Amino acid sequence: MYMYYEFQFGNLFLCLGVISVCKWLQDKMTASNVSRQRIDTVLGALLLAVLVFLHTEVVTFKTYTLGGISYDWVFLNIQIILFIFMAVTVSSRIGAAYLTGTLALFYWERGFFTMWRGWLSFFAVLALAYVLCYYGTMMLEHYWRVLPIAFMISIIIWYTVGLQMRGDTFSDWAINFIAFALQLLLVNAFNLRLRRDYSREMTLTKQATHDEMTGLHNFRAFSADLHDIYATRADATSYFVLVTMDIDHFKRINDTYGHLVGNDVLHQTAGALADLVQDYGAGSRAYRTGGEEFSLIVRLPEHDDQQINELCRVIQYNIRKQSLQVGNDTIHWTVSIGCNYVDQGDSGYLEVFRRADKDLYNSKENGRDAITVHGELLAE
Ligand code: GH3
Ligand code: MG
Ligand code: MG
Repeated sequence: MYMYYEFQFGNLFLCLGVISVCKWLQDKMTASNVSRQRIDTVLGALLLAVLVFLHTEVVTFKTYTLGGISYDWVFLNIQIILFIFMAVTVSSRIGAAYLTGTLALFYWERGFFTMWRGWLSFFAVLALAYVLCYYGTMMLEHYWRVLPIAFMISIIIWYTVGLQMRGDTFSDWAINFIAFALQLLLVNAFNLRLRRDYSREMTLTKQATHDEMTGLHNFRAFSADLHDIYATRADATSYFVLVTMDIDHFKRINDTYGHLVGNDVLHQTAGALADLVQDYGAGSRAYRTGGEEFSLIVRLPEHDDQQINELCRVIQYNIRKQSLQVGNDTIHWTVSIGCNYVDQGDSGYLEVFRRADKDLYNSKENGRDAITVHGELLAE
């Protein structure tokens, strides 16, 4: 009896290839901020295309294979596995739509819709697939969670296939079940492995560009962003303002209340700046550029002195209104602010930071809790 083991395991490699391509696409699109919905649409379409391809293979086999050979097994397992993979990967309404389409195609291709038990199993499989689809992310957190429901889906499909199959012996079933279980375990392990590698990579990237204590971007990210802005300044359609600031008399806070309270002040300052920067255009960011020094790069549609002054005052106001309760004391703090902008004539990407730093120094010189924009001290 032909069982097409070589096909089964050839299919396994096809399946691993498809999963790798899906993961690669998903990561690329996530990295370029493509919306979750669009990612699901693309992945769903890709998986559907693969399943349609397999469908044409099944049809080909049915046409060209002479009787007595169990062609049903050849692509069945891999279709079920890809279907389950789609359910755990594409989890949204779009994913559910693709799942329904794929399953309908599968049942139609194999002629299951001619029996009432076929219909019944269709809805049972669909319901289980929706469960996988909506809890996919949560299920993938643990290796074993996906398996029971995946086995339930496959057993129902197997039962449906069994209704139409004639002449297969018990050992045919047993061997195919083992082949299926091995493939499902391998595919699931492979999928989880890819996910883990990716999240490790993301963690490392985050560590390299973020300040651990405040969660803001760090000096490395700051300098990279300044470099990008400098490199594209000639044909930039928007306008970037650099605001740099330093907490006033921060040493006193440390000396009076201890370093941990100092850390809380930094944390709170960072939070206020992160909130504030969200009100400005995409590409605006907050950084911790030093111990108690922070910077913002803010994107404005055009140069507007009024708007720049306003931005600095908003920052000053937001920091002044922060407070921290330590025992019976309420701590308030202020910042000295320097603000400057990229000049077409700048000879290097750090020039603007050098100027803003000079402005900041001017604010310190003039009594602190002050604002200097492009060399001019702002009146209260
Ligand atoms: P000025 O108004 O002139 O800026 O005075 P200052 O006291 O803020 O400035 P100074 O440079 O004298 O002191 C900065 C202090 O910030 C010294 C340093 O111990 C402290 N500092 C730097 N990083 C951290 C940190 O991560 N946590 C805490 N708690 N303190 C920090
Ligand atoms: Mg300071
Ligand atoms: Mg300082």
